[in-house]
Order: sequence, then structure tokens, then C-alpha cells
Amino acid sequence: MAVCTGCSLLCDDIEVTIDGRRITKTKNLCRKGFGRYRSLASDRSVRRVDGKQVGIDEAISRAAEMLRDAKRPLLFGWSCSTLEAQRKGIELARRTKAIIDDTSSICQGEIMDMVIREEIPSCTLDDVRNYGDTLIFWGCDPSSSHPRHMSRFSYFPRGEKLQRGHEEDRTAFLIDIRASPTAKILSGNFVQIPPGGDADLIDAMLAVLDGKIPRVRDKKAMISMMNTLKKADMGVVFPGLGLAYSLKGRMDRLKMLVDRLNETTKYNVIPMVGHYNMRGFNQLLFNETGFINRVSFADGVDHGPMYSVVEASKSCDLALVVGSDPISSLPAGIARALAGVPMITLDPHRTLTTELSRVVIPTALSGIEAGGSALRMDGVRIEFDPIMKSEYPSDEEVLSMILEEI
Ligand code: SF4
Repeated sequence: MAVCTGCSLLCDDIEVTIDGRRITKTKNLCRKGFGRYRSLASDRSVRRVDGKQVGIDEAISRAAEMLRDAKRPLLFGWSCSTLEAQRKGIELARRTKAIIDDTSSICQGEIMDMVIREEIPSCTLDDVRNYGDTLIFWGCDPSSSHPRHMSRFSYFPRGEKLQRGHEEDRTAFLIDIRASPTAKILSGNFVQIPPGGDADLIDAMLAVLDGKIPRVRDKKAMISMMNTLKKADMGVVFPGLGLAYSLKGRMDRLKMLVDRLNETTKYNVIPMVGHYNMRGFNQLLFNETGFINRVSFADGVDHGPMYSVVEASKSCDLALVVGSDPISSLPAGIARALAGVPMITLDPHRTLTTELSRVVIPTALSGIEAGGSALRMDGVRIEFDPIMKSEYPSDEEVLSMILEEI
């Protein structure tokens, strides 16, 4: 069995038939995972220093030299790397007195921080399959972002205590601003809110819990939903990017709601992490520093918003980017600032960031060409072996070589 690293579900039941380096047949992959496997043969990055193709030794030496000379390096990315590579990355950050940050800094970081600090209760996806009878998908569209979430773990499967599955034993609500593919599946329980309306909805939900009339148009539907939520034996909230952006800086509202629900029943939270090992990086950095992201090793360990990729991009004098494409994904002004800084990029694929990098080191695709381990979105550790030999080194190997030269 192979493991798919197409998203943070890390499906470990994938069957693959290979002919040489060609994948001829797969089983259990969703369309997104299939895209990940198909990317094996498309748009691979090319090893380069200053636009010229070079050997691995020259690329490593140049990268090490640039990192040694930098006064304020930023090491960014990490959510698409194995735990082993992430560990090397944190070591490299310590050695070079760098700022280190990952993609959680601009997406699910606030929620993940509460989960890892155990300020908000969480559980595993296996618990959800077996006992999760009341689910809230909030600001997410699992049908598109994590295509096997609902079939493997959350909505459709029969569980130990939920033998009649979604037909009778499970109820799921979707709260979102648009009628997504998931909304079509949960059409009877789709709560549509205006953009940025999440905090108001939470206030309305808290009002019902306080026995007050909620300030929403459809009061009857709101009271009915809250009655269902209160009756849960085990409820689970799956916050997505929509909720993370809408409640930015006000995540205590979500915590307040979950705490209130937990006064009468049991609710857990599992963030709908996108990249396959974002949680792994957050957990590792937390174990080492007490913070999940936005850390500077310039003078011991320091943490704060000034060390987020958004702020550090404006002040760093070098960026090492691992498995990420910040030039495409960051807001234009920030991307422009980063593009003006010398960059070293490790990535299996050609991206806008590799195109603008001084040093590009192609790496193996995790789960297909490289093995290792990662933390699933619920924190469960999944190990995987490569399913084929690769001409490319893994992230971990490249980072080890750089560390040796520094
Ligand atoms: S749900 Fe995610 S991990 Fe599972 S097969 Fe699809 S992309 Fe891969």
C-alpha cells in the first residue's frame, strides 16, 4: 500500500501499479491524489545557480555560502515536507540564526495553535468515524479540498457506534458563504452566511444557547440547528480557511462556542489543514520552541507577528523556500518584496518562485519518490516508503548536505 500526500488526510490505502517510472494503474486515489501522482511527469524543476544548470555539489555549495553570508535569513515553506526534513529545517534555522515560518502563518495557524496547546479539544479522524454523530463543516468544502474526508472518516462511513451511518446516525451541517459541492451533498443542512458573517453567526448560536432569540432572519432554522447540536453524543467542528480568514484575530469566538457546547455535551475541533504535513511542522516547532510558527533564532528563541512570512519578507536579506510557492500565493506587494531578495528554492516542480530563485534544487516527491513520515490533519503519525527510485534527492537529504557545508 502507498500513502497519498495530496492532502492532509494522507490516505494510506493507495494501490499503485508501476511500469518502470510510469504509473499504469491506481486504486483508491481521489481526483486530487491522482493529480499528485500525475505531477510526477510534469513540469519538474531544473537544478540551477544564477540561471545556469549545475551539478548537485555546486548547487549545495552556493546555497550554503548564501546562507552563511546572510544576516537575516528567512526559511519558509515546510508544510509539504516530511517530519524528517522539517527537523533538519529547524536545525538549519538555529545554525544560521534565521527566522523560520510555514504556511500556517497565513492560513490555519491560529486554530492549530489552540489545538496543539490543547486550549480547544480535538480528537482523531478514527474517533469521528466511530463516534462523531454531529458534524459542522465550517468555511470549508471537503468534497473539493479533501475529496475522501466524507467517505473515509466523517459523513458516509459506518462507525463502531454509528452502524446506520449518515442515513440515520449522523447529522452534518455546512456553514459557508457559497453553495459548494459539499453544500449539494448536505443541502438540507446548509447554512449560507454573507462573507465575514461568521462572528455574527456565532453570536446568534450563543444567544440560542443562552435561551435568547437569535438575531438572524430564519430564527426557526437556527433554533432547530442548535437543538440538534445540543443533542450530540460527540460533535466535531471542522474549521476551514473561510472561517480562519473571517475570524482572523478573533478566534476566541470559536473557542467560546465550543466551550459553551461542551458544557452540555462533547465537541472537538479538527482544522481542515490543506498541505499534507502542515500539522507536522507546527507540532515539531512547538515541541522545540513552544511556538508553532513565526519564530526567530537570531537571539535565542523569539516569536511574534514580525516573524511571519508576510512581515519577514519585507526585512529579510535571503529566503530559503522549501516546497512552497510564496511568489504565487502571497499578496502582490509581499510577493514583490520577496522577489527582490535572493532566493534558494527546493521544490519538485517548476513554480513562479523557482523561476525567480538564484539557486534551484529539485527534490523528490514525498510519498512517491521519497519516504518519511508526516502528521495527518488530526495529528496521527503516518509513515510511508517511496514507491519508485528517483534521480532526485529528498528535501531531507538536500538539507542535510547544506547543513554539512555550513
Ligand atoms: S483525499 Fe487527499 S490524501 Fe486521500 S487520495 Fe485524495 S488527495 Fe490523496
